[in-house]
Amino acid sequence: MTAGDGRGPHTRAVHTPRPVPPEQQPLGLPVYRTAAFAFRDSGEFADLLAGRIPGYSYSREGNPTAEAFAAAVAYLEAFGVEDDVVGEPFSSGMAATSTVLMALCRAGAHVIAPRQLYGGTYGVLTTLLDRFGVRADFVDGRDVEAVRAALRPETALIWAETLANPTMAVADFPSLAAVARAAGVPLVVDSTFASPAVCRPLALGADAVVHSATKYIGGHSDVMGGVVIGSRELIAAVHRTRAQLGGSLAPDDAFLLHRGLATLPLRVARQCASALALAEALSAEARVRTVLYPGLPAHPDHALAAKLFDPDRYGAVVSFVVAGGRAGAAAVCDAARLAMIASSLGGAHTLLSPVATTTHRQLDDATLERAGIDAGTIRISVGLEDPEDLIADLRQALAAVPAE
Ligand SMILES: *Cc1c(COP(=O)(O)O)cnc(C)c1O
Repeated sequence: MTAGDGRGPHTRAVHTPRPVPPEQQPLGLPVYRTAAFAFRDSGEFADLLAGRIPGYSYSREGNPTAEAFAAAVAYLEAFGVEDDVVGEPFSSGMAATSTVLMALCRAGAHVIAPRQLYGGTYGVLTTLLDRFGVRADFVDGRDVEAVRAALRPETALIWAETLANPTMAVADFPSLAAVARAAGVPLVVDSTFASPAVCRPLALGADAVVHSATKYIGGHSDVMGGVVIGSRELIAAVHRTRAQLGGSLAPDDAFLLHRGLATLPLRVARQCASALALAEALSAEARVRTVLYPGLPAHPDHALAAKLFDPDRYGAVVSFVVAGGRAGAAAVCDAARLAMIASSLGGAHTLLSPVATTTHRQLDDATLERAGIDAGTIRISVGLEDPEDLIADLRQALAAVPAE
């Protein structure tokens, strides 16, 4: 590796000197931006593939930066949990969701999921897994007896969401976990809308937690990722399925997601406080029919949220209903100047989504009504702006709908 080693210019360009990994811990997370890892000899390669020694061979199977990110989220979710829990990283929330479902279900399996379910998850259950003989029953997630009644011998798992979109219904984890435990099936919770800075379902009886890290965990609307946290045994099955399906988290994205974690509790505490202020301000507006936010005492799940969530944190997604159905919701969104119209949530920017034409566009008026969703519902993901500015913006935007 010196001037006189006799190697040609192309060989030199490929086989440049590499640093020996330093003894000192870098404060920033090292990014192992590599597809593969080299071995000292073929015996070591064979030993690693056979599981006789730890290490890495190929980044679809495992990458230290992606694993560090998943381990960090597992550490946050493990607060208050007695048993050992580990995390598995994913390229998106849907990669996490579809992989967990594929890992836990086989042909003939049955899944119980809430009727108010994230559209992507609903789609995987009804248009992908149904082709492989998996059947899903959608029940009122707040009705624990309905969940129990839906159990079948083939039930493979119960799915729940910490906060449902757009009604912000709160999952009753202790009761759902009791039903799941009695039936011997895992309770899997999509906790994206809460984040580990609001609620940790594993400490409340859930067996696995799924996050779209694209939302609060990343927190800046500039990176996609997902993560699943659970027992070593459950995650081992999820890991094998992920390596097969290939939804691996890229090392650079893992770095960004990991970087967001240090400020997650600070960001989310502020977003929750602003969301409560905004929800209270909207409740006082004549042009707002209803505000759906569990931080308000009028929300049906206020007491449950106060019991299950961290003090003074009720999430930072607020829904409100205006007159005029789809047209009314569109008029308010279009009149907002600060809050932006976009999908996604959890980032620094406050985002608006008229739900009947976006997240719930597949539902006609009758189906919306059965699901208890008014066509004039608007979802706000509260960001990091000054709450006074957000309140002023929505107040002026509300002038776009007629007073009732
Ligand atoms: C966004 C979201 C997902 C999917 O995550 P992606 O990162 O977009 O793949 C799953 N569940 C919920 C509740 C979400 O909000």
